[in-house]
Amino acid sequence: MKKQFAVIGLGRFGSSVCKELYKLGHEVLAIDSREEKVNDITRHSTHSVIANGTDEKALQSLGIRNFDYVIVAIGDDIQSSILCTLLLKELGVEKVWVKAQNYYHQRVLEKIGADRIVHPEQDMGIRIAQHIISEKIVDYIELSPDYSIVELIATDKVSNQSLVELNIRALYGCTILGIKRGDDINIAPTPTDRIQQGDILIVIGHKNDLKRFEDEGM
Ligand code: ATP
Repeated sequence: MKKQFAVIGLGRFGSSVCKELYKLGHEVLAIDSREEKVNDITRHSTHSVIANGTDEKALQSLGIRNFDYVIVAIGDDIQSSILCTLLLKELGVEKVWVKAQNYYHQRVLEKIGADRIVHPEQDMGIRIAQHIISEKIVDYIELSPDYSIVELIATDKVSNQSLVELNIRALYGCTILGIKRGDDINIAPTPTDRIQQGDILIVIGHKNDLKRFEDEGM
């Protein structure tokens, strides 16, 4: 279903989020206090507006509370990021995702009710490090300090075997969520589906279990 998003702050992070959501077919309102940033995003958003994210009246007049998600991507100006988040929650926006600049910024955002706090640089650093240390890992998403989703390249060891034969859940406590093969993706693998060499397995589990599966099962 098409969702409505608003992105406030169109630096590298905010504009990337905005462009990708728009490319995926969603309605995106792009907001920045600087005219040149708004002009740059016009082709990549449904609407783009020059407005200050800390101006309560401006947010109200944009009907901000009707958006499914608002992403606050104001980075350097921590005070504005906090005030904007506070206003959005007070105005009744259901899901507010905020880019945090540091640990103290994060703690304040948690206290005022931000629904999700992201650290793009740290998150990307972790993903790249995971990718570098393992030739089998294609991608890595941290869900919590304990749980992750990884994409692993199927090796000889698991090829030509069905999921029931591999018995990954019982042996390693991990679950295969999907199998990518070329441009196709099977998002509901059945026990009889067979893995082919070069498939990419999308696996969820505890980090220790995923590591064990990667080291011993693949
Ligand atoms: P990034 O790290 O994502 O590239 P940046 O370092 O380029 O960001 P930031 O200072 O983090 O820039 O600000 C991101 C954007 O937020 C800028 O385009 C800036 O104009 C905008 N911005 C800052 N304060 C406000 C505000 N109060 N209302 C709306 N937009 C704002």
